Amino acid sequence: MNICVIGVGYVGLVTGTCFADMGHHVHCVDINERTIEKLRNGIMPIFELGLQEMVVHNTAAGRLRFSSILSDGMQRAEIAIVAVGTPSKENGEVDLQYVYAACEEIADVITTDCIIVVKSTVAIGTCRDLERRIAERLAARGLASLDAPVVSNPEFLKEGTSVEDCLHPDRVVVGVASERARTVMHDLYASFVPEERILFMDPQSSEITKYASNAMLAARISFINEIALLCDIAGADVTSVKRGMSMDARIGGAFLNAGCGYGGSCFPKDLQALDQTGKLFGLEMKMASATSAINERQKRVLANLVVSRFGRDLRALKIAVLGLAFKPNTDDMRYAPSIPLIESLTKYGCAVVVADPIAAESAKPVLPQSVIYVESAEDALRGVDAVVLVTEWDVFVGLDWRKLGAKMKQKVLFDGRNVYDPETMKSLGFEYYYIGRGYVVGD
Ligand code: NAD
Repeated sequence: MNICVIGVGYVGLVTGTCFADMGHHVHCVDINERTIEKLRNGIMPIFELGLQEMVVHNTAAGRLRFSSILSDGMQRAEIAIVAVGTPSKENGEVDLQYVYAACEEIADVITTDCIIVVKSTVAIGTCRDLERRIAERLAARGLASLDAPVVSNPEFLKEGTSVEDCLHPDRVVVGVASERARTVMHDLYASFVPEERILFMDPQSSEITKYASNAMLAARISFINEIALLCDIAGADVTSVKRGMSMDARIGGAFLNAGCGYGGSCFPKDLQALDQTGKLFGLEMKMASATSAINERQKRVLANLVVSRFGRDLRALKIAVLGLAFKPNTDDMRYAPSIPLIESLTKYGCAVVVADPIAAESAKPVLPQSVIYVESAEDALRGVDAVVLVTEWDVFVGLDWRKLGAKMKQKVLFDGRNVYDPETMKSLGFEYYYIGRGYVVGD
């Protein structure tokens, strides 16, 4: 098939590349000319495991092309996949301006039938509204007979494993009202997704499925984080509580690790959007708002731990932060818990030295200017008074603390992901602080 992907961020670039790898002809379009220039030269604008090789291979094979001009990409396109960003407005509502702009532009350039697939996470009713607007624009161009149905096809890939997720999705959700679009979407996915995992439904249900899925995952994280706070106050250990809960097959263990809060481009904004959507429909979304509020509190836990250990005047101290990205295997800094932590440490006068295997470049614009960037944990820990683990990259989980402890001025470790064994750390002479295992951290 000839496919045009509009927006080549985490979702669009991975999706377009995977479809090209399956043999489709894919033209990726982005308004950011620097991004397109980089991609044409084989340089990735984002970090994703295995992506660069696939882009280079499919570009060389002539199946994957990049352009900043939509009309180029839309030539002969049977499907247009919209994967532009949908950030939050100040009031938490989802900002759909990029989705509307992309769809209106599509309506202004197409000359043949085209199925418009919305992969961006959009408010409920957006696809129906887009379809109406596109039909109006086509009619204004004298092309009312063109068939341009809008399909909701939310994306569930996870940054860090997105190529794998795209090639082997748990499920594909397709919200569709048109029979022709349903057949084309079926053909697009049936070659690599088992029939029973392609779920057809109406567009509104599909739009809600995306928000409901993210809200459920985020709610589990906030739930265990709240239990972790209770454990701290009550002198219990949240990791034991989690073990005891998760053996119940109805509960399971996924998304039940206490930590310093969730971040990323999806959970925070989608939870806010769900909350705001409820308001539009006159319904208070109590779970969504509680999940967000608990997460905001949780993102302060590490700074509170540091302050309860060292006091508020940190001017004499140097603290290392390991991990900046909101989770391992990505360079995405959006809503990362490292940001409020480092802002607080800097505000209290502390010198902050940071290491992250990939995210340093994307962190620089969003972190205080005084932050010192180094290449490795070994470099970061030299002469510091404490270290805070924020992102559980494998290289940090596997550190040799016996060797590293000797480089530190004081052996104080705050573990924001509960990845080390307390007994081992204590036996190595560390003052070891963690989340939800018996320390009162305040709020
Ligand atoms: P992103 O910010 O990484 O990329 C969006 C891209 O769209 C940017 O490169 C931007 O320049 C481009 N763009 C904006 N307007 C455009 C236009 N009119 N024409 C062409 N290009 C345009 O965003 P992302 O993280 O890939 O997310 C895209 C959507 O997918 C969002 O709605 C997001 O919520 C959703 N989503 C993201 C993830 C994720 O893990 N990142 C997962 C599932 C769903």
